[in-house]
Amino acid sequence: MISWGTNLHGMSSSEADCLFCKIVAGDVPSTPVYENGTTYAFRDIHPQARVHVLVVSRQHHEDAGVMAVEDPALLADMVIAGVEVARQEGIEESGYRLVFNTGSDAGRTVFHAHLHVLGGEQLGMFGRPG
Ligand code: AMP
Ligand code: ZN
Repeated sequence: MISWGTNLHGMSSSEADCLFCKIVAGDVPSTPVYENGTTYAFRDIHPQARVHVLVVSRQHHEDAGVMAVEDPALLADMVIAGVEVARQEGIEESGYRLVFNTGSDAGRTVFHAHLHVLGGEQLGMFGRPG
């Protein structure tokens, strides 16, 4: 049965409009890096470092904090996938940064939990630009 807020695929309307749900479904193209049963990793379209990969959960969760409450094991899967991406990309030894952006001051643009894996060169400092 289809209820309010869901479409024919059983997705909520926010999920149906969600870019990363579409990428997970293969409806929007992406360059795959790694995948397993719960996560999918692909190259960021506007890389901020030589290696810039996004790890997303296959299931839609608004952000990492919500995921931590709703499905803490999935949050652990995201981090484990991020480490696996770093290993595959050859940056496990040289170092890398795992980032969850939250809210507008962090420049967040996509409201489906995602982990940035950044590395492959010396990274800048945290905080204010410049
Ligand atoms: P955030 O700013 O934390 O919400 O991160 C969203 C990221 O998604 C940004 O780094 C974008 O460059 C990236 N992005 C947006 N659209 C795409 C896409 N179609 N394929 C890959 N990465 C994307
Ligand atoms: Zn989504």
